[in-house]
Amino acid sequence: MQQSTTSLRQNNLRHILARLPEGVQLVAVSKFQPLDALADLYEAGQRVFGESRVDEVVAKAAALPADCRWHFIGHLQTNKLRRLLPIVHMIESVDSLRLLRLISVEAERIGRTIDVLLQVHVAAEETKTGFLPSEIIPAAQAALLLPGIHIRGIMGMATNTPDTARIAADFAAIAALASELRTVIPSATTISMGMSGDWHIALAHGANSLRIGSSLFGPRLQ
Ligand SMILES: *Cc1c(COP(=O)(O)O)cnc(C)c1O
Repeated sequence: MQQSTTSLRQNNLRHILARLPEGVQLVAVSKFQPLDALADLYEAGQRVFGESRVDEVVAKAAALPADCRWHFIGHLQTNKLRRLLPIVHMIESVDSLRLLRLISVEAERIGRTIDVLLQVHVAAEETKTGFLPSEIIPAAQAALLLPGIHIRGIMGMATNTPDTARIAADFAAIAALASELRTVIPSATTISMGMSGDWHIALAHGANSLRIGSSLFGPRLQ
């Protein structure tokens, strides 16, 4: 039983990796998945994992090999920054200038520079978080002055809808913002978009980093 779950996850990984063009990164979204699920993918070569809760990523980082790379993709409570920053490799879900400033101050305090993505809100749902498209360039300009962060690009989500034209339009809007951002910060080249249900569409619109959870691991525990 255990063996077959392992090979199922590893087969899912190989199946997806075989379909990614050169230069596209896969972030395995392992939130709410047990350690052995991450270990299965690690054994098959995966190193980049996406997590959405600080307590969980801190525990997993302590338990798994040190060459794992942890991307934070959830809502970040500022009182947990101190625990997150020593172990995180990228914060993909930065959604306010206030958070950028706090990350920079804490990063400087511990002698690190933290890679971040600006999360943009283009989806129709009110519940999704992120900067408004019009706020991205002003935020990037302000962030250029912050010594503790490197802005590496943009993260976004499409509307949760069966309407593939709407999903495609959302991804096109995120990619357009990413190229606008590169005029301000040329090294901000990451376009993180596409999840289990829509990554094919994201790739067609220029994604170079995918965040895939359930298609790798199966359903989450929560
Ligand atoms: C959970 C999550 C994902 C992965 O979702 P799946 O549909 O399981 O692939 C991607 N991005 C973010 C921001 C998430 O919270």
